[in-house]
Amino acid sequence: MKITFWGAARQVTGSMHLLELPSGTRVLIDCGLDYEKRKEFEERNANFPFDPKSIDLLILTHAHIDHSGNVPNLVRQGFNGKIVGTEPTLELSDFLLHDSLNIQRMEMAAKQKTIWKNSGKKFNKGKMPKVQTLYTKKHITEMLDQSVCLPYNVDYQYSDELTLSLHEAGHILGAASVRFSIKHNNKTTVVGFTGDLGNANSKLVPNPVPMKNLNYLISESTYGGRKHQSDSRNAEDAMLEEIIDTCVTRGGKLVIPAFSVGRTQAIIFTIHQLYRAGRLPEIPIFTDSPLAIKSTKVYQHNVEFLNEEAVEFQQKHGSLFDFPLLQVIEDEKESELLSVMNTPCVIISAAGMVEGGRIQMHVRNNVGFSENTILIAGFCAEGTLGHRLLSGQDFVEINRKPRPVHAKIKRTDVFSAHPDHQQMVTYFEESNPKGDLKNIFLVHGDETQMGILANDVKHTQVTLPEKGQSFELN
Ligand SMILES: [Zn+2]
Repeated sequence: MKITFWGAARQVTGSMHLLELPSGTRVLIDCGLDYEKRKEFEERNANFPFDPKSIDLLILTHAHIDHSGNVPNLVRQGFNGKIVGTEPTLELSDFLLHDSLNIQRMEMAAKQKTIWKNSGKKFNKGKMPKVQTLYTKKHITEMLDQSVCLPYNVDYQYSDELTLSLHEAGHILGAASVRFSIKHNNKTTVVGFTGDLGNANSKLVPNPVPMKNLNYLISESTYGGRKHQSDSRNAEDAMLEEIIDTCVTRGGKLVIPAFSVGRTQAIIFTIHQLYRAGRLPEIPIFTDSPLAIKSTKVYQHNVEFLNEEAVEFQQKHGSLFDFPLLQVIEDEKESELLSVMNTPCVIISAAGMVEGGRIQMHVRNNVGFSENTILIAGFCAEGTLGHRLLSGQDFVEINRKPRPVHAKIKRTDVFSAHPDHQQMVTYFEESNPKGDLKNIFLVHGDETQMGILANDVKHTQVTLPEKGQSFELN
C-alpha cells in the first residue's frame, strides 16, 4: 500500500493525497486549489500529476476551496467515481465552488485585458477570446451527482478490502477526519487523515475527535509552533469589549473582515448570545457578504452537526443567527451606502484577508477615521491587505491609492478555526493510546512551523513529506 502527497506538502493550500491499496484501488483524499503562487495559478491547478480516470474514490474532508476547489476539474478530466463527504460539506461546496468559478472568471478576464493592453492594440471587448476557467457550472453539477453523503461515525464498506468512516473534526460545519481500515493478507492497517481540525471550544462546531487504533496518521499542522493568545471560551467578552470600545465609547464603526464560511457564523452567533443575555448595547449589526448569507442558511438547517451549546441555544431561542439588531445586506447599492454611513455600527464582511470582496470598500471608506476599528479575526497571508494593515503602516495602498490609517487596527484569534501547537500535541497523544501509531505525516503547514511541531511529538516517528513523495505503508 502506498501514499503519495500531491498537495499541501510543506505548504498550506492545494490539499490532495493519493492512497493506493494493495488491490490497486486508488483513493484520493481532497482535491483542493493551490493558491501558493497567485501568478502560477493555472500551471499549478490545470493538470493533475496522475490520470483522473484512474481514481476510483474521492473523500472530501470539508468544503473549503483549498480542499474542494479542484474537484470539478477532476470530473471534467474524466473522474467518474464516487465522492464521499458529510451532507453539509457537499451543500457548502455547491456555493463555494460557484463562488470560486466567478472569481476565476473575473481574474482571467482582467488578465486577458492586461495582455491585450500591453500588446499596444486598441481594446475591443467584442474581440476578446472566451475566458477559460478550470471548470464550468456543468462540472459542479456532475460532481454533486457523483456524491454520497455519509454521517459521522458510520462505517462505509467500499469493498471487501476497504471500510471507511468520517469523524468530527471541528473547524467548520461538516468538517470530517477520515479513518480507513484496509484488509490485506489477513492483516488490517488503519490510516487516518485529520483534514483541517478545529480550535478547542470553538463557537458552533464540536471539538475534534481523535481517531483510534491508527497505524498511520496524516495530519494538518497549520498552527504548529504557535500559541493562541486568547481562549475561545472568552469569545463573548472579547467581542463585547471591542463593540463598547469602538461603537459606544468612541462612536465609531467596528469593521470585521471575516471568511464567509465558519468565521462569519461564529461571530454572528457570539453577538447573538450577547443580545439574548441582555449584554449587547443598542448598536446595529450588519452582515454584508452574499456567500456568507448563503452559508449561514446552511449552518441554520444543519444544527444537528453543531455542538451542544448551539443545539441548546437553537432550542431556547428558535434560531442561531436571527435577532432584531442584525441586518442582512444583499444589495450592492445598500452595501455602498452602509460603507459611508456615519453612525456607530458593526460591519461583518468578506473576504477575511481583505483581498477583494465587499470588505475592501468598507476598509477603504473607514480606515481613515480614528473613531473606527478594523478587527482582523483570521490568518492573513503575506502580501494581502489584511497583512499590510496589521504591519502598522501609516498609509496602506487600496485600489492603487495610498490611504492614511487612522482607525485602530486590531487582531483577535478568539475565533481561530485551527488548533494551536499544544492542542495538536495533545491530539496526537490521544490518537495513540496503545502505541500502535507508527508514523505521523505532517501536511498543510509551512516548513518552519511543521518542524517545531515535529520536535515536540513523542513516541512516534514524524515525517514532513515533499510534494510528489511516496511512502509504503505496511
Ligand atoms: Zn479548512
